[in-house]
Amino acid sequence: MANFEYLAEELNQLKQDGRYRELSVWGSGCGTWMELGGRKVLQLSSNNYLGLTSHPDMKRAAIDAIDKYGVGSGSVRTITGTLNVHDRLERELAAFKGTEAALVFQSGYAANLGVLSSILTSDDVVISDELNHASIIDGIRLSKTNRKIYAHKDLDQLEQRLKESANYRTRVIVTDGVFSMDGDIAPLPQIVELCEKYDAIVYVDDAHASGVLGKNGKGSTDHFGLNGRVHIQIGTLSKAVGAVGGYVACEQVLKQFLVHKARSFLFSTALPPAVAATCISAIHVLQASSDRIERLWNNTAFFRGELKKMGFDTGVSETPIIPIIVGQPAKTMQFSDALLAEGIFAQGIVYPTVANDKGRVRLIITAAHTDEDLKFALDRLEKVGKAFGLI
Ligand SMILES: *Cc1c(COP(=O)(O)O)cnc(C)c1O
Repeated sequence: MANFEYLAEELNQLKQDGRYRELSVWGSGCGTWMELGGRKVLQLSSNNYLGLTSHPDMKRAAIDAIDKYGVGSGSVRTITGTLNVHDRLERELAAFKGTEAALVFQSGYAANLGVLSSILTSDDVVISDELNHASIIDGIRLSKTNRKIYAHKDLDQLEQRLKESANYRTRVIVTDGVFSMDGDIAPLPQIVELCEKYDAIVYVDDAHASGVLGKNGKGSTDHFGLNGRVHIQIGTLSKAVGAVGGYVACEQVLKQFLVHKARSFLFSTALPPAVAATCISAIHVLQASSDRIERLWNNTAFFRGELKKMGFDTGVSETPIIPIIVGQPAKTMQFSDALLAEGIFAQGIVYPTVANDKGRVRLIITAAHTDEDLKFALDRLEKVGKAFGLI
């Protein structure tokens, strides 16, 4: 029998630190009020920014695609897995993003892994924000490239790293468009300017900006009016878009390269056709109206404003991602549990995902939350926040 005692020891350490978590098993689909352990709780931690996980047009598109194509795609994309829905999704994504081409992966994680690990070699250098997402870090790790980190959004340090990097073949600057733990936005205009000055490639991961920032949710490049100046845009179909999948929007030559070289693309089965069809429908939903995105930002401004008035520390949030900073891991998890007892799900996030004294519950406000939902949440947060001495 395998000896897993060392794993059990590590788990015990997590328990002692107050960082051990059971998975929450939900009895209903993603939405604002969800069933957990036989009762309804208000969901404040999903990535379902626009409430699209249950959009009727998208559900219909998925059901129709299952009727037409069946449930699985049957192979990797390079063999028999590229169905015409995949091709159409990529054409629509490229048109939506205003790029020459787009290539779809099974997730945003797979997109970062596949793109970064294939385009970066030991002749190149990647310069990465210290708070970039784990999938960026892992993609870089899978390559044999040279790596430099700059302090979060520190443009002076970024320029310094660029100056040190003159001798590499290709310099790639990588940044999240919206940072997932703090909800702040990357200074993309300044980053693009530096990249143009030093002849570097800009790579932005818009997982939390897809469907959230820019006209009709086109992302941070559009938000800042930088169309045509960002070389590689990663997006996800898993968060605001409401389904699952990831993509890169880029030039045709990069797409063709990735089709031949990106290992997460080459060696993993294509997205189910129903998912591709539902994502095409999502693009149409986004293009048809900005009402949902407007409601998302109105809800966010109201909610963050009220939290600040109460005296909560919401860090540097400037998007619908709103952290409430609590402190040590154990206290953070207790705060999250106390909110759950009051009918609110607010996931605690602690070390090592964030600094040890910066544990927080991370709230994500959505367009689907009603005024009553938000008032209910604020009322309960005030009560529990006082009990914990946070306000
Ligand atoms: C969530 C996230 C991803 C992963 O996207 P999935 O589609 O869920 O795999 C990648 N990058 C960033 C910045 C993210 O926040």
